[in-house]
Amino acid sequence: MDYIIATHNMKKRDELQRILEPIGVRVLLAEEAGIELTDVEETGTTFEENALLKAESGCKESGMPCIADDSGLAVDFLDGAPGVYSARYSGVHGDDEANNDKLLAALEGVEPEKRGAAYVSVVCCVYPDGRKLMARGECRGIIGHERIGNGGFGYDPLFFPVEYNMEKTMAQLTADEKDAISHRGKAVRDIAKKIGEIK
Ligand code: IMP
Repeated sequence: MDYIIATHNMKKRDELQRILEPIGVRVLLAEEAGIELTDVEETGTTFEENALLKAESGCKESGMPCIADDSGLAVDFLDGAPGVYSARYSGVHGDDEANNDKLLAALEGVEPEKRGAAYVSVVCCVYPDGRKLMARGECRGIIGHERIGNGGFGYDPLFFPVEYNMEKTMAQLTADEKDAISHRGKAVRDIAKKIGEIK
């Protein structure tokens, strides 16, 4: 069965496709399905709301089951910020360098025990008959004092996951190592399980 994914990000599509292929699901970008999806404004205050907004809109416009995700970084000391605003924390959407600078400044002088954080990913799937599936994945870690590593994207050079005993940043892991522990990997594997159960 064909599903559409509400993103232009080929990496997200490929990751989902790898996990869903064994259960006979094909994941298409809108452009691959010959459809144009409206870019939905992320007006929600939670990851769940934003993922649902995007999946519902994509399903309505395409008439196909639609998968969408929303993710970000929630820092304990900052009461969960930047949260749903992670991509635009510095004010400019997608400026990773400025976002990392702002995070380092916000945590200046804060000791390691208080630098806990969680990456969060919510993946949602909406079907034309109105059924909805939702999965949430989290990855805990601490925020470092300087950038380390060249892999990944976003806040990865500052994020030390607990799974690696806070000895490596996300940006020092290979893509496979990151997928195995990441918020997105967990949420995607969980939604795949749920899709397999009802498909
Ligand atoms: P989106 O869900 O693709 O809109 O991503 C939201 C933002 O959260 C990204 O622009 C990054 O700043 C941050 N983010 C989400 N997942 C990750 C990750 O795996 N590594 C680093 N940053 C991430």
